[in-house]
Amino acid sequence: MMELIADPKLEPIAHKVSRGERLTFDDGMVLFQTHDLLTVGRLANNVREQRHGNRTHFTVNRYVNHTNVCVVSCKLCAFAVRPKAEGGWTYSPDEIVEQVAPSIAHGVKELHIVGGLHPWLKFDYYTELFSKLKAAYPDVHLKALTMVELDFLAKISKQSVRETIIALRAAGLDSCPGGGAEIFAAEIRDEICDHKMSAEEWIDIARTCHQLGIHTNCTMLYGHIERPDHRVDHILRLRDLQDETHGFNCFVPLHFHRDNTVYETTLNEATSLDDLRTIAVSRLLFDNIDHIKAYWIGIGEKIAQVAQSFGADDLGGTIVDERIFRMAGAQTDAAAMSRERLEKLIRDAKRVPVETDSLYNVVERAA
Ligand code: SF4
Repeated sequence: MMELIADPKLEPIAHKVSRGERLTFDDGMVLFQTHDLLTVGRLANNVREQRHGNRTHFTVNRYVNHTNVCVVSCKLCAFAVRPKAEGGWTYSPDEIVEQVAPSIAHGVKELHIVGGLHPWLKFDYYTELFSKLKAAYPDVHLKALTMVELDFLAKISKQSVRETIIALRAAGLDSCPGGGAEIFAAEIRDEICDHKMSAEEWIDIARTCHQLGIHTNCTMLYGHIERPDHRVDHILRLRDLQDETHGFNCFVPLHFHRDNTVYETTLNEATSLDDLRTIAVSRLLFDNIDHIKAYWIGIGEKIAQVAQSFGADDLGGTIVDERIFRMAGAQTDAAAMSRERLEKLIRDAKRVPVETDSLYNVVERAA
């Protein structure tokens, strides 16, 4: 059957995709700007099904935000408070070990640990946290600390980034999440998070993690003041690093939520169509990253279901106790999510749910 391509500019891209050829910056721009979203989605779905068939992956995980105190004031952030300000929290390692116990008893396999850049927490706090969690729950995977946090910890402990990662790995760090990348273009970064590390520094620390055998995810925060060329540039810079290290497990496009940020009244958020397009274009441009995540907490459960036919093969996790997106206005409810509910979301989208660990090894559970 003839497949209709409404925008002729997509025809050469469709041929490249069918031949497995790498797409260029200009191809990315066409994909982000074409009116023919359904063709973009169909091409991405073909690639997704070639790689993963009908399977959609998920993890049973829990989020831990050990502190929201942060010395940086990113304009995009609704989560952090300044030191000594009202509304700050910091949990001790023992409190966290206790807090996560019920989740571990209910089958959580991964703890996703990120927080603010707290000026008074010593480096020992982090090594103690990881070693106590590992002692209490030796089989749980610790996916912790963004590149931004690793950079900060290296500075406060007066070690190199390499030494910092080695010490954290010895304490129990297994892999790292991909946050803090935001958008790499300096002109956007200077506006939304001007005190945060540069793109080059983020990439360099991710490279060091990968060289030390610590896999990471990678992300892109979209739907604020960036343009399509910034998105394509961001994706291709990550693709270049993946060519070099093969250390990224998955790519996670993150829908920017504006509530309680500087942009609350001045920006419109990305539409659901833009969410789907961003996932699809990511699938098409990342020929070297196996997994594209539809982060349901950011885009909503229903769009996450559709995204499984627009290139996404991963729905994320159960994400118990997510706070960062909720504080920025996301309406999704991580407290209500369970393994059974996530499986149903996937099955109702006519996909086959496959539970994996953090490194995409399939988890077998007793019936
Ligand atoms: S985005 Fe991260 S670094 Fe920036 S203020 Fe929020 S917690 Fe701090």
